[in-house]
Parts: sequence; C-alpha cells; structure tokens
Amino acid sequence: MSPRYADIIIDISHEAIDRTFQYRIPERLCEQIRIGTQVSIPFGRGNHLRSGYVVSFSEKALFDENRIKEIADVREGAVDIEGSLIELAVFLKEQYGSTMIHALKTVMPIKEKVKGLVHKEVRLLISQNEALGKLALYEKKHAKAKVRLLTELMDTPVIPYQLVTGKLNISAATLNALKAEQVVAVEEEGYYRDVLGTETVSGDLEAGSLQHYLCPNEEQQAVIDRVTTDFSKGITDTYLLKGVTGSGKTFVYIEIIDRLVKQGKEAIVLIPEIALTYQTVKRFRQRFGSRVTIMNSRLSKGERYDQFERAKNGDVSVVIGPRSALFTPFKNLGIIIIDEEHEASYKSEYPPKYHAREVAIKRAQMSKASVLLGSATPSVESYYHAVNGDYTLLSLEKRANEHAALAEVSVIDLRQELKNGNRSIFSTRLKELMKNRLAKREQIMLFINRRGFAGFISCRSCGHVIKCPHCDVSLTEHFKGTAKEKLVCHYCGYEQKRPKSCPECGSPHIAGFGIGTQKVEEMVYKEFPEAKVLRMDMDTTRNKNAHEEILSRFANGEADVLVGTQMIVKGHDFSNVTLVGIIAADLTLFDNDYMSAERTFDLLTQAAGRAGRGNLSGEVVIQTYDPGHYCIEAAAKQDYEAFYKAEKAYRSLLKYPPFCHVLSVFMEHDRYGELTRLTDYLVEQLRQKIRDKQILMVGPADATIVKINDRYRRVVYFKHVQYNTLVELKNAAEQVIEEKAAFQDCFITFDFDPVHGY
Ligand code: ADP
Ligand code: ZN
Ligand code: ZN
Repeated sequence: MSPRYADIIIDISHEAIDRTFQYRIPERLCEQIRIGTQVSIPFGRGNHLRSGYVVSFSEKALFDENRIKEIADVREGAVDIEGSLIELAVFLKEQYGSTMIHALKTVMPIKEKVKGLVHKEVRLLISQNEALGKLALYEKKHAKAKVRLLTELMDTPVIPYQLVTGKLNISAATLNALKAEQVVAVEEEGYYRDVLGTETVSGDLEAGSLQHYLCPNEEQQAVIDRVTTDFSKGITDTYLLKGVTGSGKTFVYIEIIDRLVKQGKEAIVLIPEIALTYQTVKRFRQRFGSRVTIMNSRLSKGERYDQFERAKNGDVSVVIGPRSALFTPFKNLGIIIIDEEHEASYKSEYPPKYHAREVAIKRAQMSKASVLLGSATPSVESYYHAVNGDYTLLSLEKRANEHAALAEVSVIDLRQELKNGNRSIFSTRLKELMKNRLAKREQIMLFINRRGFAGFISCRSCGHVIKCPHCDVSLTEHFKGTAKEKLVCHYCGYEQKRPKSCPECGSPHIAGFGIGTQKVEEMVYKEFPEAKVLRMDMDTTRNKNAHEEILSRFANGEADVLVGTQMIVKGHDFSNVTLVGIIAADLTLFDNDYMSAERTFDLLTQAAGRAGRGNLSGEVVIQTYDPGHYCIEAAAKQDYEAFYKAEKAYRSLLKYPPFCHVLSVFMEHDRYGELTRLTDYLVEQLRQKIRDKQILMVGPADATIVKINDRYRRVVYFKHVQYNTLVELKNAAEQVIEEKAAFQDCFITFDFDPVHGY
C-alpha cells in the first residue's frame, strides 16, 4: 500500500529548511511521487501554489485529518538536481544515522540572510553618445536627480544600488522613470564572489598553457583510456588507481576530466584540504581556466552558496574541494575523483558521519557517473574491494620523472640507542646525516606526530600527572620564546601557568615526558646552533595563510630544517630536501582504534616520499621502539603489498572492516551516573535484536577519554558482517531514544565504521 501523506519542505535555500509540512497524496499522483520529487502545493491562507520537495512519507495524520491539504500536482521534470540531492540526504540519514535536517543541511548550502548578499546594481544601457544627449535634455528640464545619476554612470557604467539610493540620493520614482525610458537597468544577478581572488586574473593561469604539452607515458595512457573508453561505452564503474607518489596521478585526473568536459560532462575532484595547495590548484587552472573553481572550509556559507549556484547554472565544469564539494549540484556529472582516498578527513566528524567514498559511489550511481579513487597507499578497505573485483584496479608503478628514485630508508632501534648511552632524541645516525646535510646546504624535514613541547608533565617524586580540570587528559607543555610557560589542554583549550613545584607533594622535580614539535625544534637548535629551523603544526598555522607561508619560505631556502606534524608530509615537493627524519614512528601506532597501523604506514610512506624529489637522491631515517612491527618493516621497504597482507590478517582475525562492519554508539552526558544508566537501558532494550541477529557487542564502556569539557563519555560497539543489519539496529536504537524522555539531555551519535576510536 502506498503511503497517504507526504512531508514537504518548501524553501530549500533558506533557514526554514527545518520545517516540513504534511500534505495528503492524491490517488492519481501516487505513482509519480517519491522522495525528492518536486511538487506544487497550496500554501498559506491564500492557498497560493508554491513548489516544495518531498522528504518523507507517513501513514498517520499529524493533526486534524480534514485540515490537511492535498498536493496539487507534480512539477515538470519530477526529480531535478535538488530532488536528487534530497534523495542523497535521505540516504545519508538512513545509512549513517542523523536527523533529516542535518542530512539536508549537509547536502544543500543554506543561503544566509546576510545584508548585501543580494547584490543589486544599476547599469547604464545606452552608449556614451546617447547619454550625452540625454544629459543635455535633463539639464534643460532641471531634472537634477537624473543628471546626478547619469553623470555617475557615464563615469562608471555599473554602480552598486546602495550607492544610488544612498550617497546619490536618487528616489525610487526617478529610478523607475529612467528604467521606463530604458536608460538604466536594475540587476540582481551576474554577481558571484570569485573565491580564487586575484589568481583568476594573473596571466600564468590562462587555460591551455604548459600542461597541454606533456604527453602521457604508456602507463598513464592505459589508465586514461580505460576510464574514458568505458565511459563512452556507457559503462560507469568505481576505479581504484594505485600509483606511487610522483607517478602522475594528478596529471591523469586532469587528462580524464578534460576528455569528459569536452563531451559536456562535469567533474568533482575531492582533495584533502591539507593538500589543496596553490600548486595543485594552479595545474587545474592551467588546463580549465575559469571553468574550474575551488571550495575550501574558509569560504563563508554565502560564498559556498554562490559556488554551488555557478555549478548549477553551468558556469563551471570542474569543482575541486574537500569532502563537502561532493554535493556540488552539477546536472551532468561525469566523474567524481577522490585523491588520497585513504585520508581520514573523508569521513565527516559531524552527524551524519558519512564517508565521502561511499557517498560518492551512491551519487555516481544516481547520475550515471564514474568514481575514480586515487592513492599511493590505498585504504585497506578499498584495496580489498579492488582485489575482490568490486572496484576496478588500475595502477601506475613508475615515477613520471625517471631521475627521482625512491629514497633509501634505514630503521633505527631507539632502545639500542639508549643502551649505547645516547639519550638525545636524535639517533647517532640521524645526527650524522643532519650534520652532513647542513654542511652541504641541503634541506632536512623532521617529522613528529605530536604538537607542543612534551607529551605530559609529571612529578618525578610522587608520579602525579597534571591534568586538565575539565577533561580527563594530561596537560601539554608549551613555551613562549624560550621559557616553558604554560600548560595547555589540547581538547578544550584550557590553559594554566606552569607550576614551579608539584601541586600534590610540593616537590620541585617536575618535568615533561615525551616529545612534541616544539621540543624537536629546541633540540635542533641545541645540537646545531647555526641551523635555521621552521616549525609547522596547529600552533603555528592558526592564521589564514600561515600554511602556505611556511611552506614557501622553506621552499625558498629560508631555513635548513622544517619540523612538523603530519601537515608537512602531504604532497609537498621540495627538490632540495635530501633527508627526512621520523623522530618516533610509534607515536601513532598504538592509538585506540583498528586504523592506527594503516595510518602509521601511510604517514611513514608519505614522509619517506618527501626525500629525494628532485635530482638529488634522498635518505630517510625511521626511529622507533618497535622495529619488528609489520607496519614499520613494510614502510621501511615501502612495500604496500606486505603491509596489506599482514593488516588483512589482523583485521580478519579481530573482525574489523572490511571483514565486518562496526557501529559505534557514543553517548555524552553532564552526569556520569545518569549516563551509565542510560547506556545500560539502551543496550537492554536492544538485547533481543542483538541476540536474534547474532550481532557482536563490545561494551558499553567508558570512552578512552572519559571526560571532555566537563561532559562524561561512554561508548558501545556493535559488529556484524551485514551493514544493513547494523542500520536496522541503529533504527531500533533511535526508536528507543525517542520514546524515553531522559535521553533528551544525552548527546548521542552513531558512527559506522569509525575511523577513530572513542
Ligand atoms: P602524483 O599526483 O601521482 O604525485 P603528479 O601528477 O603530481 O603525480 O606528477 C608528478 C610530477 O611528474 C609532476 O611534476 C608532473 O608534472 C610530472 N609528470 C607527470 N606525468 C608526466 C609525463 N607524462 N611526462 C612528464 N612529466 C610528467
Ligand atoms: Zn609530586
Ligand atoms: Zn580540557
């Protein structure tokens, strides 16, 4: 039986997106109406016909049955681009668990009501000669206001509306008269903020320059042909392009897009924000000129909206951006490319916690487009799908620039260093090589995956660790200039002065343990006072362009050493870097989630890839306390297959993706006791379903960090081979939560196949 009522949203571009209105579905339209369908509905007291979109169905009337109006008609074209995005929102809500509002807000940029956003302008419609004639006429008639406006327009033919009504003090009547005479026009359109700013006009970015003259090599050609030939045969697929760094993946993307764009198709390119550098954007600009636009998180909501409008109107064919660019309203989408597809940033950290890869595949299916995933170190999940034939595996094995050989890697056992009496954070070998490079004036990158000065600070006498009063974590030592000044909480931002003695026992022997970026920087200065060091981490890149600035200063040779967190290992080419030191490879290895080995392997491989990008050959030193770990061994040999094999065995044994799906239900509350009661209650209510479907349950238990910002945190994990079984469980959980009022004070999130532990 078809549903009787439809919930409809009226104006999708405004804040009112949260409100739905219930309408009856007339018998005659039953067949045509589905989620996302655009319909005409009588609205308000006057029952004026307005258009709306169907977002859900129901059997029950929400209020007096007789007062519910009926849908008047289905609009032409039934499901348009907004409609398919709404369909996608429904998919997000269902697959990842969130409210419909959050899902809609994820796929549709909301037009903010910001003053000045509707940009009106007044334009002169006649030639300068005609204007001179008119001017004489108005002067004769003493039409002072008309003279004022015309004089201004003869100087600047398009001026802002505000200027006309404001400073020039022209009345609406005058303006209307001039409009009637067809002297001026008032326009609202044609205005989009250009987010590329000055880059657009600079000469070196003209479409079609330079890159056109590169010829794909044999390997690259095969990849380009495969994807584009399939496409012209009407075959769309998900491809995984596994290609070593520098093998020309980006070049291949551009070639493929070029061919599709020439057939009138459009392309979305997802690139992790961190890798979305000027260099990358420039390459796309050179090929596609003003047909390409970029999105990033620094765009305001209004700017994002404008970009989406440009895409919808067909003014651009290619959009490059992070995760959210996935929802660009292209009408003729041909391909979605996800570069560095293994990156954790493709998973949304807010509900709906969707994975861009999965949503891209869904969107591509809806629009008959292809998906191309690219990486030097594919995620274990994607590679597994490719090996099993769910995706098509394509590869690039050679670096495009023949001279750039892979770097030589050595692994240093830090335990052995300590036994030999070396207490420095630099092993003997690393120190030697650093000295050598500094002498040769070649550059060095030092990588440490932790910002700040030290891991935590504790008392050597009583063992007391100084913790954040609002979070269950230790504070991190930071310093200003050279003084170790303050302790900072990396979770809530709390700061306090560094105490001189232990707050517990009064002992003066308190010290920092572990190492962070600042500590490494300090140690470089200590060992090599003549070296110039730049540091790049969250603390030094708060300002808008700090990122690019630090990188370009390093590229210009303003420093010998760049110390940084993972920010420095992603996709930057420095031809003069011949040494990469990984200070403590194990830091990320034992994070509390199943992806930690994969992330570490990826980081090490990427870091190693930074050495010897130019014609100079490079060396990499990996320092570790666990040189025998399969992840370190495989990274040292830059052997993806070896890593994959070991990792696959581990995941299969412990029932993790891709062998099993995981649903985490994370709950947060002000009071610990109440939180425990609620988690237990929820699990109890689901017990029957868990048993029937043979779902594996882990927990409920305290989250790794039990308190952040004075809120307590608990988590329970469910595992099952079938994703849909977990979706059903999530739906049942939603039901339980909705029916018990006490859950209102509890913040609950669902996370499928989480990329970080809780
Ligand atoms: P990836 O994205 O795989 O790291 P890129 O596309 O950035 O690789 O290519 C690496 C370098 O090799 C770039 O400088 C690029 O211009 C160059 N390159 C790529 N393909 C070719 C080619 N067919 N001929 C000459 N140079 C190439
Ligand atoms: Zn103490
Ligand atoms: Zn805190």
